Amino acid sequence: MPQGILFNIQRFSVHDGPGIRTNLFFKGCPLRCAWCHNPEGLSPKPEIAFLASRCTLCGACEQVCPQHVHTLAGNRHLLDRASCVACGKCTDSCGYGALELLGKPYSAEEAVALCKRDLLFYGQSGGVTLTGGEPMLQSAFAATLAKRLHDEGISVCMETSGYAPRAAYETLLPYIDLFLFDIKETCEASHRQYVGVGMEQIQDNLQFLDESGAEIILRCPIVPGINLREDHFRALCNLANRLRNVREIHLEAYHPLGLSKSKRLDKDMPYRNEVPLEREKLIDWQQKMELWTQVPVRVQ
Ligand code: SF4
Ligand code: SF4
Repeated sequence: MPQGILFNIQRFSVHDGPGIRTNLFFKGCPLRCAWCHNPEGLSPKPEIAFLASRCTLCGACEQVCPQHVHTLAGNRHLLDRASCVACGKCTDSCGYGALELLGKPYSAEEAVALCKRDLLFYGQSGGVTLTGGEPMLQSAFAATLAKRLHDEGISVCMETSGYAPRAAYETLLPYIDLFLFDIKETCEASHRQYVGVGMEQIQDNLQFLDESGAEIILRCPIVPGINLREDHFRALCNLANRLRNVREIHLEAYHPLGLSKSKRLDKDMPYRNEVPLEREKLIDWQQKMELWTQVPVRVQ
């Protein structure tokens, strides 16, 4: 039975699909969006997050770590992350909440059991959302999990970047009630520059899901200086108009949370804008888009 690595299980979410949902965050993503909102989902492996502002330099982690990852030198706390084997001993030893182990293996049975705790809250429309990271990077686990949940009568949504082999979508299709399909950019050159790959595979998979009758919501992060452009909003409308099964377009305003999260992981983010995009600006674009498409546009 495949195991999966999840970095978060978020209960009672109302933002990631219809109704009240449990979100399972899969670790690992093949893309490198310059503005990434979830940098803790980039690496497929478990890793240590370190919050320097909470560290009292007590030295407990340095003493318990079998890999000598932590070194306290004067008033500095250095981490040799490459040597970490994610045993969790240091996070257990830190009494100040400065360390957190992000990513833990789960069997499908364990994950389903955790989701079933919230069964009463799902009602008619709620359920479970597979998100990340990119769930398709662990497609065997995602498929097992989605089938089990489906067999239990629980609705399953999947948020995906579309950047995965077609076969993975073919396998998952019968068990996914709604795809939250990310469209990050509609200009090929900008997509390559800011997402790290071209758009072809993503567009092919979107086309395939649409032709297969899958229910689709387009999830569109809007990032100032990258895709906050009229031609992008028009292209999103054209895309939704061309497909048959896009139920809604969701505009998601850039927020800088990823920057603070990336600091805890010593990851460098190429896009360093500290200012969130105001929702009101997106509402203006929503109104314009409603002239260009019949597909409902929502601001998240
Ligand atoms: S998780 Fe284990 S190996 Fe990694 S830094 Fe902590 S104690 Fe060391
Ligand atoms: S155990 Fe926690 S507070 Fe103590 S040195 Fe390590 S990270 Fe800092």
